[in-house]
Amino acid sequence: MSAPIAEKPRVDVAGLLDRAKRLIHAKEGWMTRQLVRTPGKFGLGQVPAKFAPDATTKAVCGFCSTGCGLNVHLQGGEAVSLTPATEYPVNLGMACPKGWEALAVLDAPDRATSPLMRDAAGELVPVDWDTALTDMVGRIGKIGDEHGRDAVAFLSTGQIAVEEMALLGAVAKFGLGMVHGDGNTRQCMATAVTAYKQSFGFDAPPYTYADYEQSDCLVFVGANPCIAHPIMWERVLRNQKSPEILVVDPRTTETATNATLHLPIASKSDQALFYGFAKLAIDGGHVDKEFVAAHTDGYADYADFVAAYDVARVAVETGLSEQTVRDAAERIFAASAPSFWWTMGVNQSHQGTRTAQAIINLALLLGAIGRPGTGANSITGQCNAMGSRLFSNTTALFAGRSFESERDRRETASVLGISAETIPDRPSYAYHEILEAVERGEVKALWVVATNPAHSWIDQNRFRRLRDKLDLLVVQDMYDSTETARLADIVLPAAAWGEKEGTFINSERRIGLLKKVKRAPGQALTDFDIFRLVAAYAGCGHMFEAWDSPEAVFGILQKLSAGRPCDVTGIGHGHESPYRHLDEAGGIQWPYPAAGAGSAAQDETERRLFEDGKFYHPGGRARLISEAPSPSPEQPDGDFPLLLLTGRGSASQWHTQTRTKKSAVLRKLYPADAYLEIHPDDAARLGVRTGEGVAVASRRGELTAKAFVTRNVAPGHVFAPMHDEHTNKLTNWVFDPYSKQPSYKSCAVRVAPADWG
Ligand code: SF4
Repeated sequence: MSAPIAEKPRVDVAGLLDRAKRLIHAKEGWMTRQLVRTPGKFGLGQVPAKFAPDATTKAVCGFCSTGCGLNVHLQGGEAVSLTPATEYPVNLGMACPKGWEALAVLDAPDRATSPLMRDAAGELVPVDWDTALTDMVGRIGKIGDEHGRDAVAFLSTGQIAVEEMALLGAVAKFGLGMVHGDGNTRQCMATAVTAYKQSFGFDAPPYTYADYEQSDCLVFVGANPCIAHPIMWERVLRNQKSPEILVVDPRTTETATNATLHLPIASKSDQALFYGFAKLAIDGGHVDKEFVAAHTDGYADYADFVAAYDVARVAVETGLSEQTVRDAAERIFAASAPSFWWTMGVNQSHQGTRTAQAIINLALLLGAIGRPGTGANSITGQCNAMGSRLFSNTTALFAGRSFESERDRRETASVLGISAETIPDRPSYAYHEILEAVERGEVKALWVVATNPAHSWIDQNRFRRLRDKLDLLVVQDMYDSTETARLADIVLPAAAWGEKEGTFINSERRIGLLKKVKRAPGQALTDFDIFRLVAAYAGCGHMFEAWDSPEAVFGILQKLSAGRPCDVTGIGHGHESPYRHLDEAGGIQWPYPAAGAGSAAQDETERRLFEDGKFYHPGGRARLISEAPSPSPEQPDGDFPLLLLTGRGSASQWHTQTRTKKSAVLRKLYPADAYLEIHPDDAARLGVRTGEGVAVASRRGELTAKAFVTRNVAPGHVFAPMHDEHTNKLTNWVFDPYSKQPSYKSCAVRVAPADWG
C-alpha cells in the first residue's frame, strides 16, 4: 500500500478515540448549543408536561434531497419531538411522513452499538474499537502491500454529511493511497451529473424551488414527485398560474393522475419524444433564436439531427398518437415559462445521459433557462447527493475538479498543504467497474459506508456472489442488520442523522445544517470520527490534523471551492461563523462567493443559475448534444414476455428501508407484503387476481409477490417497488455508457401464479 500506512502513527490514537467517545456521549453538539433558539415558541399547542420542550433548534431532514427544515424540540438538551419549520424556505411548514418520523428510527433495537468482527466460527461478534480498527487497517495495509493500491476500494454515500464524505474521500485517496472509490449516488444522479457537465460545462442544476410555483407549464419526465418528492409536489400545488402539468411516464403514477396531460410512452422512448418536440419547435418557429445564437453551440447540427424525428416517427417509437405528441408540444410552446423536471425514469437508463440532454436541449431552444419558472431541472435523490457530487472526492476531485488534470491536482494540493504526488493521477473506476474488478480478483478489500448494495445494487445475485471474492469487506452503518452488514468481515457502528453535525446540500443547491440532538447508542461513533481514527491507525493521521471538526472541514471545502462554479467562500460573511450564517439564513444556495457576499442579490432566499446566459464551458456557451437512441438491451420475448418497471412504492418508504421499516407509523402507511402491479389483461391471461401470489422471474433470478391488478401499468408491463429486498434479483447489469449509472427500470420477466404463504 502507499507509504503512509507503513509509517508509525504520529498522532495520539488513544487520545483521539477518547475524544470521539466523549463527543458522541455528550447530549448535544456544539452547534446545537450555539444555535438553539429562544425557548417557548414552538407552536405545539398543549403538550403533556413530560414531553414539553424547553428549547428548539432547526435541522435539515436526513432522508431525501428536498432538504426540508425541521424544528427539533429539546428537553434537557435532547430531542423529544419535531415539527416542520414554517419559516424554512424549502418546505414552508410542511413535511412528509418520513420527516415526521425522523427521530423514531433512531431508537430501533438493531442499531449497531459495538464494532463487530467475524470470528473463527464465522460469526460476527462484538469487539472494542481498538481491535476492530487495528484489524481493519492492518488487513487493508497487507492487501495493499501484496497486491498494490488498486486492490483496495471504498463505496461512499449520499447519506452522510458533506464534511464526513469529504474526509472519507481525503483519507482514502490521499492518506491510504486508494485510487478507486465511488458512491451510491452513481445509482441515482450520475446521469444528471454527466449530462450537465457535458452540456453546461459543470454539474449545475439551475433551478430553485420557487420555479415550481412560477412555471406555467411543468413537464415531469420519469418523475413521480407526488410520492418521491412530496414536498416539492406541494410547491407545485401552491402554483397560482393554473399551470399545464405534463407527465411523461409509461406508468399512470400518482403524479400522472394529477396531470393536465399524461403521455404514457413506451418504455425508454423519451429521448425520441424530445427530439420530436425539438423538430416541432424548429418547424413551428418556437425557437428563441436570439438566446440560441448568443448562448449555445451546435444549433445547426442539432436542427439537422432532429429533422428525422417527424411526428409520425415519434408516434411509432413512443406508442403515443400523433395528436398527443402535437398537443403536448403545443402546450409547451404556448407557455411563457415552461420548466422540465426529470429524475430516475431518465437517469436510470441505458441511454440516460443523451435523454437528459434531449430535455436540456429543448429548454435551451426555447430560451427556457435562467428565468423564473423555467429550467432543465434534475431532481436529486438522497439528502446529500449534491454534496457527494461536489465534495466526496470519489470519481471527481474536490469541487468538480479532475484527477487527470495536473493543474487541478496542484491547486488541490496547495489548498490542502499536501504533496501533489499524493493525489492519484487517474480517475477512479465507477461503481460497477469496482465490482467487476472484485469479480476479476483485482479489488480484494472493500470499505462500504452508509449504503446497502446487497439490497440496492442491480442484479443482486451477481453482487452477492462477489462476497466470496473479497478478502475483506468492511461495512460502516447505523444498523448492523442491513443485508450488506450481514455479509461483512468487520462492522463499524456509526452515529446517525440527529446524532452528529455537518451540512447537507439539497436538490436546489441549498446547503443546510444537521445538528446533534441525541446521543448515539452504545459505542457508535460519528462517521467523521471513524474516518479520523482510521487515518490515525493507518499512520497518516498527521495529514488530517486540520480536519479536526466538521466546521473546520467546511472551512477547508470553502477554500477548495474558491473560483469554482460552486464557490461558497462568502458563507460566514458578516456572521460569527459559516454555520451560524447557514442557520440564520435558512440554508444558502451555491454559489455564494466572497465577492458580493452580503449584497441584496446574493442574499435572495431563492436564486437560480444562468440568469446572465453564461454557461461554464470556455466561451460561456451551452452545447446541444445528441445521439441516435438505441433499443433497451433486454426486450421482452417468448420466454420472458413482460417488461418490468421498478420505482418508489410510497412516500413512507425510503430506498432499502433500512430506516423506514423501523418506524411503526411508517410501516402502517405502506403495503406489508411485496407486490407486483399487473394489467387486468395480463392478469386474466395468467389467471391471477389481486392478493394472489405470483412468481416473477428474469434471466437472473426470481421472487414471489402478491399480484395487484391495476390499469396503472400498461398491458405488457409490470411494476415492482424497489424497496423489496428481492426486486433487484430481477434487474439487469446494464449501464449508461457515459454516466455509468445502472439501468434499473427495464428488463424482461415472466410471471406465473404461485402460492402465497
Ligand atoms: Fe424529509 Fe424529503 Fe420528506 Fe422533506 S420530503 S420531510 S426532506 S423525506
